[in-house]
Amino acid sequence: MQDIINNLPKLAKDKHKENKTFFSKLKKKPPKQLDYLMQELHEREFQQTDCLECANCCKTTGPLFTDKDIERIAKHFRQKPSQFIDNYLRIDEDKDYVLQSVPCVFLGEDNYCSIYEVRPKACREFPHTDRKKFQQISNLTLKNVAICPAAFNIVEEMKKRIKI
Ligand code: SF4
Ligand code: SF4
Repeated sequence: MQDIINNLPKLAKDKHKENKTFFSKLKKKPPKQLDYLMQELHEREFQQTDCLECANCCKTTGPLFTDKDIERIAKHFRQKPSQFIDNYLRIDEDKDYVLQSVPCVFLGEDNYCSIYEVRPKACREFPHTDRKKFQQISNLTLKNVAICPAAFNIVEEMKKRIKI
């Protein structure tokens, strides 16, 4: 898995132009069955890809924390939200709360998340490949294929399955 992760930025760069063209066409004319197809591709990919062997998202990017995330996780630690923010978060250039540093402080050496049950919504949903109206997050996906081997494979499969 580590070899795949190491090669991913180059592979994604090589595919960037092709992916950009594909998503631009997809946005203009999304197929009617896109939501169903994404569900299928997502499920099939994650039957093969084990996030516990990867954890590259937790190691390299980290999520945004919503107010609800902060309240829930602070409660888990029996802290006030303001304490949790002081301990772990910073505000980024888009004025969102993000981790002070990566790899994520909650990631264990075994790649398990120590706050799995209360983890941020963005972590639960990453890489967003099963969300509805997937064509609407194409800019994010173009970035995610360089981080997430599963997202990369899903986009490659999309290009084979959707003829536009
Ligand atoms: S979501 Fe993607 S980047 Fe994150 S651990 Fe799973 S395969 Fe790796
Ligand atoms: S909170 Fe958990 S799932 Fe989210 S980035 Fe950190 S270790 Fe990964």
